[in-house]
Amino acid sequence: MNYKRHTVTAALPYANGPVHIGHLAGCYLPADIYVRYLRSIGKDVKFICGSDEHGVPITIKAKKEGITPQQVVDKYHKIMGDSFKEFGISFDIYSRTSSKTHHDTASQFFKTLYDKGVFKEEVTEQYFDEKANQFLADRYIVGTCPKCGNENAYGDQCEKCGSTLNATDLINPKSTLSGEKPVLRNTKNWFLPLDKMQPQIEAYIDSHKEWKSNVHGQCKSWLNAGLQPRAMTRDLDWGVKVPVDGAEGKVLYVWFDAPIGYISATKELFENQEASIKNQEEGRGEKVTTKSGEIPEWEK
Ligand SMILES: [Zn+2]
Repeated sequence: MNYKRHTVTAALPYANGPVHIGHLAGCYLPADIYVRYLRSIGKDVKFICGSDEHGVPITIKAKKEGITPQQVVDKYHKIMGDSFKEFGISFDIYSRTSSKTHHDTASQFFKTLYDKGVFKEEVTEQYFDEKANQFLADRYIVGTCPKCGNENAYGDQCEKCGSTLNATDLINPKSTLSGEKPVLRNTKNWFLPLDKMQPQIEAYIDSHKEWKSNVHGQCKSWLNAGLQPRAMTRDLDWGVKVPVDGAEGKVLYVWFDAPIGYISATKELFENQEASIKNQEEGRGEKVTTKSGEIPEWEK
């Protein structure tokens, strides 16, 4: 196919640790080579990436280190950005999902689906830590594994026997925040009915026989098991706020917001370019910075 323009994206790395050589070799270098090839033959191409900065693991890291989630992502966003630069990866923009553009864009996606009535509201029981005054993500709960008796199993998995668990399966559950026994409380979340979307998803995946066989196989095995509705919101204070009434204290599930990062980073790149052109036209000539405060690649 002969495309007019090319947008190349590389997987947004998760900002709770540095990137290593395996990431570079497996993901960023092949994309960079392809982008450089396109540029060398005169194609109109943009190469997009950024840090994935929400989700529970970042909040756990912050608690462990006694700092805020924002401090965790600031640290690793810089380390990763510097690594890519030093390695010569030629992104047109390296943004981040904590940017305002991303929060606005992810909110719009959620709101659009909400207004169309796509989500299913469901009240479920979830563990709540009365001392810490917050709902507990599965990883914030430890207890005894009902399968093997390991006393340090997590609310989603026992690392000793490998069983997948629900937090309510644990015997003697304990909050890792306060050490207290959590209580079950009702909470409302918004579910994406993946089960209803199964035929479209299946048709899409079947139309991509060129994918790596292990990727294709993994997708097929999920589909064969039957897709289930999945909550797109979480009781958490770190992430994109759920933009509807009655959702205080909830954020978008990181797997809902992060993939939108490719779109918001692309938006941000063009917003920056427009600002730069406007600056030059008005003779100000000053360098613009991205909303996350850095000078974008094309301005250097
Ligand atoms: Zn176990």
